[in-house]
Amino acid sequence: MPIKNGKQFLDTLSAEREIYIEGERVKDVISDPRFSGATKTMAHLMDIQSDPDLSDVMTYNSPTSGDKVGMTHIQPQSRDDVIARNDAIKVWMDASCGMMGRSPDYKNCIISNYAAAKDVFKRDAFDGSQNIQNFYEHVRENDAVTTHVLVNPQIDRSKPAHLETSDIVAQIVKETDAGIVIRGARMVATLCAMANELLVMPAAATWSNETRDTSDFSFGFAIPTSTSGLKFICRPPVAHTNAPSLMDHPLSLQYDESDGMVIFDDVLVPWERVFIHRDPDFDLKVNPNSYIAHSMLMQSVVRAQAKSEFMMALAFSIARSTKIDQHIPVQVKLAEMISMTEFVRSCRITAEHDAHKTEFGTWVGGIRPLQTWQTFFFEMYNRQCEIITTLGAGGLVAVPSFAEIAGDLKEDVEKYFQVANADAPRRIKLMRLAYDSALSSFAGRQRLYEQYYTGDPMRTQAALFNSYDKDTHIERVWTMLDELEKRA
Ligand SMILES: Cc1cc2nc3c(=O)[nH]c(=O)nc-3n(C[C@H](O)[C@H](O)[C@H](O)COP(=O)(O)OP(=O)(O)OC[C@H]3O[C@@H](n4cnc5c(N)ncnc54)[C@H](O)[C@@H]3O)c2cc1C
Repeated sequence: MPIKNGKQFLDTLSAEREIYIEGERVKDVISDPRFSGATKTMAHLMDIQSDPDLSDVMTYNSPTSGDKVGMTHIQPQSRDDVIARNDAIKVWMDASCGMMGRSPDYKNCIISNYAAAKDVFKRDAFDGSQNIQNFYEHVRENDAVTTHVLVNPQIDRSKPAHLETSDIVAQIVKETDAGIVIRGARMVATLCAMANELLVMPAAATWSNETRDTSDFSFGFAIPTSTSGLKFICRPPVAHTNAPSLMDHPLSLQYDESDGMVIFDDVLVPWERVFIHRDPDFDLKVNPNSYIAHSMLMQSVVRAQAKSEFMMALAFSIARSTKIDQHIPVQVKLAEMISMTEFVRSCRITAEHDAHKTEFGTWVGGIRPLQTWQTFFFEMYNRQCEIITTLGAGGLVAVPSFAEIAGDLKEDVEKYFQVANADAPRRIKLMRLAYDSALSSFAGRQRLYEQYYTGDPMRTQAALFNSYDKDTHIERVWTMLDELEKRA
């Protein structure tokens, strides 16, 4: 089956799923105003993928069916394939200002990577290699949209999950001929309200001293989001669903992708959908060997490039509208925006340059530039928001609803909201966009997302330190000092 267009994607959302928000079960995510903006955006991304003019960028021929399938599912066979996939990601990211962290490419890259590394799933405890391959092919051939959930709920972080007395954490409670039965919760499933499949895997970054002396908590699987007993409880929307105009909240009304807690109410996972089974070593020792961080971060750096380019363009536009860009201190801030954007672009290009073939025969991006990007980006993103609020200043709140353009005070609005380089409608549109980008609850959620979505930065940065070759550098210092001492 070939790629889905927007309408075909929306049709998949009619499957019976248990999505809850604000104390009620959602009847239809397409028409519910708390989800409708993001579902429309998702459909738009699918339409872009189906655009015949973009076919060469957005699709490739399936190795099994020969049909056109999404480029973001590709298992790269060369550096050129890595770049081609990044180019497709960039098209989607530019179309959503990098604000839809969980557009389907994120999971597509991760799933195709897991399947490429399917040999790591051949374990004494359980052989999930064919299952992960089948799941990948299912997702690719059906253009299924996937969310994932990796983290145990925050109950008592002073001890590992299995030492907690409660049964809140998702765990295996039963096994039958049909599969494993899971009870408990996991967090956070971004995009859960718009996903067809849920992937449940070990977290990519954990504390290295976490002990796991039980295997009830060790599993990996994927199930349709319509599976019986599976419930998603979403946070309230960050979008202002009663806004008089889309132009008042242009980002939140389009890109609020939803986040949810996942409840497994004795969910049966069929054996053919199980990838990891009672194998605690997999989580800590084997998972990193699958190159999962490479694929996750490669998609992320391209998204961050699009997002940084958008934030930079916004800062330029704000500064030009009132001509503050003529002042050197403002130019310094804009230069900072440029440098952050170029930093991200450089990390992407270096990761593409450092791309290499793995022992599985497929290609991945170079990990060091990706980890370097990951280390700095969430703080850079905070700085991008800070610069936009600094430049926008009082103009961010001395701005009315776009509806005032046609309201009772139309003439006053046209006169008093114009600025040196923009008439009132343009100025109001721009400042509402700036507000939504840097100051709104949507912006706050974006900041939190950048900080945590690839895992706790404390853990990921400690992982970088622990995996980095330090001895060569330390040796260099001692050699230098020894040689200096000889000459002293
Ligand atoms: C917007 C958003 C979207 C997300 N989407 C997804 C998703 O789609 N799928 C998914 O699986 N996850 C998702 N996540 C969850 C994300 O993976 C976690 O938030 C992240 O792994 C951090 O874990 P935590 O939130 O449980 O923080 P915690 O582990 O509870 O940590 C909270 C704080 O305590 C500190 N801390 C905790 N334990 C220790 C310790 N032992 N030693 C020292 N310090 C400690 C941490 O450094 C941190 O500062 C999302 C998160 C956000 C914010």
